[in-house]
Amino acid sequence: MATDPASEIERLRRRLERERATRREAERIAERALLDLHVANRELATQNSELERFAGVIAHDLRSQLTGVVGYLGTVRSRLGDEVGDRAADLIDRATDSASRMAGLIDDLLAYARAGYAELRRDEVDVGVVLERVLDDCGEAASSVDVERLPIVTGDPALLMQVFRNLVTNALKYVADGREPKVRVSATRAADAWQFTVSDNGIGIPEDVRERAFEPFERLERSDYEGTGIGLSICRRVVERHGGRIWIEDGHGGTGSRFVFTILDPPQR
Ligand code: ADP
Repeated sequence: MATDPASEIERLRRRLERERATRREAERIAERALLDLHVANRELATQNSELERFAGVIAHDLRSQLTGVVGYLGTVRSRLGDEVGDRAADLIDRATDSASRMAGLIDDLLAYARAGYAELRRDEVDVGVVLERVLDDCGEAASSVDVERLPIVTGDPALLMQVFRNLVTNALKYVADGREPKVRVSATRAADAWQFTVSDNGIGIPEDVRERAFEPFERLERSDYEGTGIGLSICRRVVERHGGRIWIEDGHGGTGSRFVFTILDPPQR
């Protein structure tokens, strides 16, 4: 039986309308879901930064208490003078050592929290000058560090200095037995970022644990080298807040490690 063209057109028109209505409904649901996601993200970010601030305040208060404890122990030691017996002197020394180590840990925790919540400055930072300051604090070991020409970037001077300080001091710390340390700091320009490299000829880091090294309080080498395992996690926080990435590669010629990171720096238009 032949279909009446008018009723066929009407049928198609109704179908089109139904499909339009379904599409509008799907768009409405998608928009709603996107909005919910934005709100949830914003809440999460606020809660995170509140937690960081909280950790910062607690760490700061604990630090002041510990400074007090170390101070009292010193006073007891000097008041007792020669009267302090060997046993008591030993106990006071051990208590002072523990309290000082704990203070160091708290300082690191504080630095980690600050690297997350401190307001990010956007200054012009001459990375060459940053390196000069870092090397000034390295004493004689600085002579093992070779610095190539470094650029000026936009970022937070104190936080960027912390990144270079952590990487350079690690490079000078994780030295392989019987090998003179050799460290090189360099920079190359990528399309919309500067890429920095700190490479050493030290003990190296096996590929399968490289990501783990960036987790807070994670130490891959416990026994022979001092540290708290917070430095690299601070580096990752700071770099990511500057819109960059940080990772570890094999060192030059398969010896040691290369720490590579980027700092977002789009070309001026
Ligand atoms: P810390 O040096 O205080 O232990 P970091 O967070 O700076 O803490 O480093 C985490 C771990 O990564 C270190 O314990 C060490 O095992 C490893 N590591 C870091 N830098 C180097 C390096 N240049 N060479 C070899 N291992 C390294």
